[in-house]
Amino acid sequence: MSIKGVTSSLTAAEIVEKASGIYEEAVRIRRMIHENPELGFEETKTAEMIADYLKGLGIEVTTGVAKTGVVGLLHGDKEGPVLALRADIDALPIQEKTGVPYQSQNPGVMHACGHDMHTAMLLAAAHVLSQNKQHISGTIKFIFQPAEEMKGGGGVMVDEGVLSNPAVDHAFAFHVWPELATGTYGFRNGAIMASMDSFDVVLKGKQGHGAAPHQGVDAIVGAAHIVTALQTIVSRETDPVDSVVLTIGTIEAGDGYNIIPEKASFRGTVRTLNADTRKKVAESIQRIVEGVASALKLEVEINFNFSVGYPVTINDSTFNEHAAAIAADLFGEESVQWLSKPSMASEDFAFYLEKVPGTFVFLGVAENPDDPMKLHSDVFLPDEKAMIQGISLIVGIALHTTEKIQ
Ligand SMILES: [Zn+2]
Ligand SMILES: [Zn+2]
Repeated sequence: MSIKGVTSSLTAAEIVEKASGIYEEAVRIRRMIHENPELGFEETKTAEMIADYLKGLGIEVTTGVAKTGVVGLLHGDKEGPVLALRADIDALPIQEKTGVPYQSQNPGVMHACGHDMHTAMLLAAAHVLSQNKQHISGTIKFIFQPAEEMKGGGGVMVDEGVLSNPAVDHAFAFHVWPELATGTYGFRNGAIMASMDSFDVVLKGKQGHGAAPHQGVDAIVGAAHIVTALQTIVSRETDPVDSVVLTIGTIEAGDGYNIIPEKASFRGTVRTLNADTRKKVAESIQRIVEGVASALKLEVEINFNFSVGYPVTINDSTFNEHAAAIAADLFGEESVQWLSKPSMASEDFAFYLEKVPGTFVFLGVAENPDDPMKLHSDVFLPDEKAMIQGISLIVGIALHTTEKIQ
């Protein structure tokens, strides 16, 4: 096998054979995790299982990274770069309705985003790689990350230094993707997923009788004006070919039909595809909220939750094309789908890709892509057979990222 001048002593066929050989074990691990889902930063049993499995493979293990994260280090027999391979391990607050025999035993918690499969595939790949150290030049850092959903565990891990000691040169992860058929991968150079920020606004006016508006300051009328005006950020202020989403998801005010309320509050989310736009939209929100509130005699409090906001996930084109070449070698050119559009959903792997070049890939898991299942659905069941493609790609990238890619 030869990928852009990088050679390995395992051929593509041998890598697929090894991934197929470990498939049954990956299914067993995946179902065990699926049956015992845990929410973000509470993944204690999952983390314990991961740590035990890695130790059994002779991999150096550090636990308690970002509370419930686990990091494994595997040194190849030869010198080379450090490659980080990351899987997220958390589940969602959803009551499962799939009815499968390995359905969640934890009421109200479900692996509905496929992180059970991400974890199982990375463990299975670690198993294969630990038996092939003679083919590895460099170090593989296996990152099992907590709390991808909403809590930004990836950012916490990066802040705690997961990309240093030893310093990571490249990072790779993927997400199961129900809009792509099993047997395919989705690749995109540049932005693949959007940034995600949220904000809270509280407006304070003056309470009064519904029949005497001149004696009060109406927070509801203010909120209505501001919510409408915020939509002009997307329609009038941003480049129409640079996608932005601004959604107000909650609004609360008032106690009775004949009372002018003192307070109104609303919350929203913003998605963008580049860092500049992200910054400008935040500034525009602040300007419009304060400006309209002031015009209507309202005081205002704005709270931007940028600390849990996720940056845009931006793939390094060189590394991404390297990964795509490996995928094509493993399963043919037809397995590689170049995505014309990014997803406006978001992903905290973005925090890693802000620091080191790497790529985030979508792994096709649809048995019937014309009628895809939805991520975060209470009946979400990705096609387990796709784990063969997933494990093969992880192993292929680990074995072929043997030189710093220029
Ligand atoms: Zn999710
Ligand atoms: Zn996810």
